[in-house]
Amino acid sequence: MAVNSTGSDRWYLGSVLWYGGLNNKTGKENQFGFLQSESGAELFFHKSDLVGSQLPEENSPVLFREGVGKHAKPSAYKVHLLETAETADRLVDYFSAFGPEKIYFDGWAQREKVITCFTRAWGKNVVSRLASSGIAPYHLLALFQQRQHSAELFEAIAADKDFNDLIALQISPTVLPRAFIDAHIDQFAAWVKKWTEDHPTPSVVQAALIRKLLGNISLSATLYLAFFNCLPGKTILEHRGSDIEEFILRSFGQNKMAVEQYVREAYPRAFASKADYYRHPVFRDFITPCLLKQKMFRKDFSFVSDIEASPTLSAIPEFFILAKLLPLIGRNDDTVIQSVILHEIWQALLSGQFTAGHPAIFRLFPQCASLQKRFRHIRLSCEAFHWRAKQADGSTENRFLCRSKVCDEPRVLPDLSKAFVDFSIYDWLAHYGMQYLVAGEPSKRDFPIRLAGYFNRIRELFARLCCRSCGLLMVPNMKYSRVEATVWDPESKGFVRRPFQAAYRLTVFKCASHGCEQFNISHYINHCIGYKCSEIIDARDLTEKCDEGRYICTSCGSCCTHHQEKYGNVNNGESEEVKYERIYSGSPYYIP
Ligand SMILES: [Zn+2]
Ligand SMILES: [Zn+2]
Ligand SMILES: [Zn+2]
Ligand SMILES: [Zn+2]
Repeated sequence: MAVNSTGSDRWYLGSVLWYGGLNNKTGKENQFGFLQSESGAELFFHKSDLVGSQLPEENSPVLFREGVGKHAKPSAYKVHLLETAETADRLVDYFSAFGPEKIYFDGWAQREKVITCFTRAWGKNVVSRLASSGIAPYHLLALFQQRQHSAELFEAIAADKDFNDLIALQISPTVLPRAFIDAHIDQFAAWVKKWTEDHPTPSVVQAALIRKLLGNISLSATLYLAFFNCLPGKTILEHRGSDIEEFILRSFGQNKMAVEQYVREAYPRAFASKADYYRHPVFRDFITPCLLKQKMFRKDFSFVSDIEASPTLSAIPEFFILAKLLPLIGRNDDTVIQSVILHEIWQALLSGQFTAGHPAIFRLFPQCASLQKRFRHIRLSCEAFHWRAKQADGSTENRFLCRSKVCDEPRVLPDLSKAFVDFSIYDWLAHYGMQYLVAGEPSKRDFPIRLAGYFNRIRELFARLCCRSCGLLMVPNMKYSRVEATVWDPESKGFVRRPFQAAYRLTVFKCASHGCEQFNISHYINHCIGYKCSEIIDARDLTEKCDEGRYICTSCGSCCTHHQEKYGNVNNGESEEVKYERIYSGSPYYIP
């Protein structure tokens, strides 16, 4: 069928919408079909315009020219199925119509079909045929990036060339293999530095190029770019921040990350001193916490003043708690440590210094997977204690329990073989000499386990301390008790004995917002006193009291020490999930 070319003499790729089928008017097989071009056009094509004897099917990929047919109908001609050796030759013509960076290979719908066409047509000669085909190297490398044959293809194109040679061929550095960039790091870094100078305010497309580049290069190359400030620190951190953090963290332990020799050689050229490196904006925020932990590890108590002097660090519960806790250990008895540290934690939470849900809490008090299954509404830390379970045959089996049920993965045993940057509260306490009464068998009497339990309870309580009328945090009626503690004194850089007013029994809370209808109305909110019960007694939800005037727990039925016979009725045979549903389904805090 006659089709007139519009004069646009490039090739187009597309896929067949339909071809053939029975014609209702004539009762014969159709001799034509329609295809969808990458140009966006829907084009008619006739059987006589098909190259080769094979007939297309729905979705067959095709290479063709666009034109205008009879009655000015937009049509395709010279339609090739992407399967034959001849089509591979035409694909070479197709690519020659485009300059560098004119095809976006990421997400290009035709990419896999084109690769398949070349590999099928040219078989085991595909690499040498492609390299000598006349397709520009910048297209070939981008087309085959992270695909089969990419390494051999790169070898064939770049064997005797360096980084600058390839840039001269208009090859994008984003398609170069990592190892090649590592081998030509100086030229690469110089190119990036120049690029940054030439693009002070990168466009969206330019920013995407840098993102791709940073995503492809090795950690070593990333460090090198940071060392010599070849890119803004912010850009490096945005794309490789987590890798750099891991590199720094591990550099403080035994299990250091391997880097190329050129990074070690560059270090003394980039930094006049260690302090210079510590101050570098790309590394600073990761290094500062590690240096603090190093001080803690060496028991250099100046870390206390460092943390207290930094609003950022003292807003991280991990550092806040360690700064308050570690100096007390070995100088005070457990009761004193407990009242001081609980007081400090309450103060920090109530003043908003850090939030009860801060993720760094779990670096210190690791989360318990077993408790997570039972308590779905809050993430709790492991508070496991050891339990020797008696078996029917009289033998015993070692188990761990979290809140009176089996804990599958206790997280409370110290392991001082790990790097100090990964220490949990249990490792820190052990490092400061606080041991379990029986090694490896923590009990509820051991301070670290009690602390974990208290900390969970404070956080559970805290999750309910919002005024139900105005939503603001309620304040407790504080009762204080006087304790004397030996604490670190930043001024004199030594330990001093100091009296302390520690708040205790924070059980009555009220709204302090003057305009609120709940202003100054007291509510009793506390944990159930029931043995094995972990319910919260919230006077706003409970009405039933015992004859001693104490609220009766909906979960276990406990109320007060006068009615101890009621203790331990936990769950009445209900699962934690059913119980949670029953008690909380009407509450505004209910999470289904
Ligand atoms: Zn646990
Ligand atoms: Zn209120
Ligand atoms: Zn209870
Ligand atoms: Zn009672």
